[in-house]
Amino acid sequence: MTTLQKFSELPLLPVIQAAIKKAGYESPTPIQAQAIPHLLEGKDLLGCAQTGTGKTAAFALPIIQRIVESRYRSNPRQVNCLILTPTRELALQIYESFKAYSAGTQLSCAVVYGGVGINPQIHAVRDGVDVLIATPGRLLDLIGQKKLSLNQVKTFVLDEADRMLDMGFIHDIKKVLTMLPQQRQTLFFSATMPPEISKLANTMLKNPVKVAVDPVSSTAEKVEQYVMYVEQSKKRDLLRHLLVDPKFYKVIVFTRTKHGANRVADVLSKNRIPAEAIHGNKSQNARQRALENFKSDKIQVLIATDIAARGIDIDAITHVINYEVPNVAENYVHRIGRTARAGLGGIAISFCDVEEKAFIRDIEKTIGQKIEVLRDHPYHSDAVENAHTLSKGKAKAQMESRENTKRNPFKKKRNFFSRFKDRKKKD
Ligand code: AMP
Repeated sequence: MTTLQKFSELPLLPVIQAAIKKAGYESPTPIQAQAIPHLLEGKDLLGCAQTGTGKTAAFALPIIQRIVESRYRSNPRQVNCLILTPTRELALQIYESFKAYSAGTQLSCAVVYGGVGINPQIHAVRDGVDVLIATPGRLLDLIGQKKLSLNQVKTFVLDEADRMLDMGFIHDIKKVLTMLPQQRQTLFFSATMPPEISKLANTMLKNPVKVAVDPVSSTAEKVEQYVMYVEQSKKRDLLRHLLVDPKFYKVIVFTRTKHGANRVADVLSKNRIPAEAIHGNKSQNARQRALENFKSDKIQVLIATDIAARGIDIDAITHVINYEVPNVAENYVHRIGRTARAGLGGIAISFCDVEEKAFIRDIEKTIGQKIEVLRDHPYHSDAVENAHTLSKGKAKAQMESRENTKRNPFKKKRNFFSRFKDRKKKD
């Protein structure tokens, strides 16, 4: 294992060292120390790492250096390095990182993703780009319209491969692979390596260097985690109670559903707590605006669903609040990983009603530790804490049925009116 203490020990160009300094990084994270020397030599890489480990810089810095040194210029509609990533938010983040790390070089960089107009993106790639960051659908769209070609790609990065598969992108990835030149450098990143992911990696990589850092459980270790037992109907009061404490300065609140996110946003706005929600039903622009407002401290609270929050990279988040406990333990780890970025500490609090106790138990098994109970608040419920823990299946069914009634409150009323109609008919 490499034990580099300083970036200056890495053979990076002065212009890149200057950008690193400007970003305020002092020493390379483990994945950077391990990957950068091999990537500078042009080797393939299999990286088992999640966001928060510094993996973007681990691939971006050597990619920038190799392009700068080769003095290669892209031809019209051609791409030198392609980075494929599952979500728009991640694509934008990687784009911003490349911009920051390549400041002071001539490197050109573009980002393409769906959900927004295609014309500015066609324009951005028209003269060719050194580095293109893309989500799969929009990339294939541009290629289909002959606005872009991949046959001069020298480096290909597949980011968050496990999420790509989860989100159903496997066919798109395979299609992209057929369009790439055989002779290329390939980097493959995934937070988890189940057999299907390793199989995919094997088909793409040639003698890769393997780097694994920060297994999911160790991220969880850096976060102070607490659970608060509270009845569902009291969660909004508890949230308000916490958010008036100035220590809760930059908070992400997670809900299970988009409707739940909207409801929490409404309650907070009515209570003059600056908050915005991001989820799949919001336009790309609205999501981006909310993220920017949160980043620049214009709002105190960002309310998000699991999908919307994937890969969100915002520094100095003070607290993650699970307004609803996720029923998939992996999501819990991803959620709390939004705080405690790049080695900083952070606090995660889960609001837990009776049904959610089963999920907490499951999470504790996954992270291999007990989550401490906080009872010192006005909404603590002994009844919830002492209630029998349901099976996971039963708990899930109960929660979903409750969610459905909330989402469709007219269902009961409709039944009432139809009964009334029936009675009238009989009369
Ligand atoms: P990533 O895993 O690429 O999403 O990076 C997570 C966060 O760590 C980002 O906010 C980066 O700006 C930050 N970061 C990356 N490398 C370093 C480093 N060597 N030192 C301190 N922070 C870093």
